[in-house]
Amino acid sequence: MKVLVLNCGSSSLKYQFIDMETEEVIAKGLCERINIDGSLLTHKAVGKEDFVLEHAMPNHTVAVKLVMDALTDKEHGVIADVSEIAAVGHRVLHAGTVYSDPVIVTEDVKKVIRDCFDLGPLHNPANLMGIEACEEAMPGTPNVAVFDTGFGMVMPPKAHMYAIPYEYYEKYSIRRYGFHGTSHKFVSAETIRFGELPEGHRKVIVCHLGNGSSISASIDGKCVDTSMGLTPLEGLIMGTRSGDIDPAVVQFIANHENKSIDEILNLLNKKSGVLGLSGVSSDFRDLDKAEAEGNERAKLANDAFKYRVIKYIGAYAAAMNGVDAIAFTAGVGENSASTRKAICENLEYLGIKIDDAANKERGKNMLISTPDSKVKVFVIPTNEELAIAKDTLALVK
Ligand code: ADP
Repeated sequence: MKVLVLNCGSSSLKYQFIDMETEEVIAKGLCERINIDGSLLTHKAVGKEDFVLEHAMPNHTVAVKLVMDALTDKEHGVIADVSEIAAVGHRVLHAGTVYSDPVIVTEDVKKVIRDCFDLGPLHNPANLMGIEACEEAMPGTPNVAVFDTGFGMVMPPKAHMYAIPYEYYEKYSIRRYGFHGTSHKFVSAETIRFGELPEGHRKVIVCHLGNGSSISASIDGKCVDTSMGLTPLEGLIMGTRSGDIDPAVVQFIANHENKSIDEILNLLNKKSGVLGLSGVSSDFRDLDKAEAEGNERAKLANDAFKYRVIKYIGAYAAAMNGVDAIAFTAGVGENSASTRKAICENLEYLGIKIDDAANKERGKNMLISTPDSKVKVFVIPTNEELAIAKDTLALVK
């Protein structure tokens, strides 16, 4: 069986087409600049030449149609007909308080996704468009929604409630949801499996460190806390997001710079984080380079990023009354040995010791702590697309 995984952003659509027997990605690609001049499809299929197509994409429906054409094309396609697509798994940002587990898309599910446009204004409309485009292009093929908020839904109220007047929770479901749920679920489960963590010793902290960064605490694979909130803005310092901040900063900037709240939220989402601090870049490789060349603000941004991770690990170890394993994942977490090392050097109080040779390896599940380390530390490459494809298959089988 072959499953198509779609991840629709406001102006992009990423896809992977996976053969579930072998778990091999047989084709993948990206539609960029949807509804912007210069729309572009890049399609890569195993054993074929890469295919790049410039074609107007006024909306996601056209983009999905072009993806179907690429997948079935005689030269660079991988299937003869769209009927070979057993199901489509959609990464959907927000399900409010309604769903935590993946669901087969029905009219009711679409209504929930629509009702959450307020909570995910950039992503939910695009996610729904992607679903409706698939319904149109492949009538009868099941669509499954896998929610980024799913993993965090089981956080206990003491972790997910904001200490603001309760009526706002009742009226608008304002609470902490958490995001990157597919990754945290996959990596925490994989940490337990790969690390052979026995029952009763499955307190895991997952550090998903990339452009978007978040951290979760889970016991037995069930989330007890996670750093993102009502939106992905809360928590760690990220590429362009500030993470935790005193809300009074918003009022102060609004008053002094004559900006609206929307403008400031845009600034906190897109111009802050390590980009804002360093003035150099939101990309951690650029920052490392600038720091190595002596750029003080790049060093400050890197230091602040790691410091926030260290604080959260301490908080989550306290929240769980202990921690058995810490796992690093995503772009920075999987690739930056120096970031992992710097973070773990501040965790000596937990009895953590890093094996420098193991920490230098890349591209696979790895135990990077020494045998006498009191807490096991792992690198576990995340694979959100495969996780979505597996969830999709499980529902449609
Ligand atoms: P997202 O999915 O949130 O866009 P990723 O998880 O792909 O982000 O992470 C991208 C980030 O990982 C980039 O900032 C990139 O510079 C960083 N990164 C990748 N490899 C390395 C490395 N070897 N050292 C430091 N940072 C790295």
